[in-house]
Amino acid sequence: MNNSNYHRKGFGLKDEVQGDLRSAYESDLIAGLRSNGNTLTKNGITIKLAEAFGFCWGVDRAVSMAYETRKHFPDKQIWITNEIIHNPVVNNNLRDMSIAFIPVRNDGSKDFGGIKKGEVVILPAFGASVQEMQLLEAKECEIVDTTCPWVSRVWNRVAKYEQSDFTAIIHGKYNHEETVATSSRSRHYLIVQNLAEAEWVCNFILQGGVAAQFLEKFNQACSEGFDPISNLERVGIANQTTMLKGETELIGKLFEKTMLRKYGPDSIDEHFLSPGDTICDATQERQDAMLKLVDDPLNLILVIGGFNSSNTGHLQEIAKVKGLKSYHIDGPDCLGPGNVIRHMEEGGMHETREWLPSGNITIGITAGASTPDQVVAEVLEKIFSIR
Ligand code: SF4
Repeated sequence: MNNSNYHRKGFGLKDEVQGDLRSAYESDLIAGLRSNGNTLTKNGITIKLAEAFGFCWGVDRAVSMAYETRKHFPDKQIWITNEIIHNPVVNNNLRDMSIAFIPVRNDGSKDFGGIKKGEVVILPAFGASVQEMQLLEAKECEIVDTTCPWVSRVWNRVAKYEQSDFTAIIHGKYNHEETVATSSRSRHYLIVQNLAEAEWVCNFILQGGVAAQFLEKFNQACSEGFDPISNLERVGIANQTTMLKGETELIGKLFEKTMLRKYGPDSIDEHFLSPGDTICDATQERQDAMLKLVDDPLNLILVIGGFNSSNTGHLQEIAKVKGLKSYHIDGPDCLGPGNVIRHMEEGGMHETREWLPSGNITIGITAGASTPDQVVAEVLEKIFSIR
């Protein structure tokens, strides 16, 4: 998109929105902790913050662009195609600024009918599908595209596969906004959520199987008309930027080995394309910091982030693999009254009583890339108030 209605870089109003962003999302307490070893002890509780947590560069940029958009178009109707990032506080703040979320019908499809010609539409950090962008362009909307450049990098990779007629094998969640946007850029794609699914597909490639069974298993996760025989002859790996980096690497190696076994080393370049490194820096830093944190002697870990935030969920997986007690919460409202915590576990909300042990304890804390420092600070204050 190159027309004058397409905005990819904000409106030069960063200084004007800085004050609002600071007061809504930053915290003096957390800034102080960051410059003092990320540790705080109070009321017999030691808090150890991960070395990297919270807002990433891409989220910071997307939220700032949304605030700039409101300033640049003070009187225009502004829409957003999805949550700008997976954090309820940030999304509610946008609603309070009269930025409307495109309604979703009962069947899960979006209703773009309310958008009028020339109105402003923000695309979130995860990006938007090709079909959505075409529809908005046809309506001559002012499009403010906050797609994170790390996500665009994956799209470029998928475009290369497309040019060479390779099928994109996308490590991600088929219904995550970013993966929906990425897959829309590919004629032939297959989405695998984890290593187990990748192994299933690789066994199919090597040993064959029943196509109908394949299509039943991946019916929501492959392109229309997918042929599990011909569309798996030439594959390239791509990923949702916030998956577990180690798992993406294993999936890439598994497909490479599979194609080597099937076609031999002389023909491997005609059947397998390597993804390069497309897990974003911020995700990697937060996962590395979590791997370090779980090596400390801790009584438990709190992972703070939106319940639909993929990168937050993956941070908790690291604690689980280590066998540490951990709770995924989305903010201070999950704590209390008293010693009670409401947390996400295996897709559902749970309530645990007496979650905060007595005596001197150490709690590890991390937060996903879409969690503002202010939310982390409020969680800390709530914990200390329980004692
Ligand atoms: S987590 Fe990574 S891909 Fe997502 S917005 Fe942040 S920097 Fe961009």
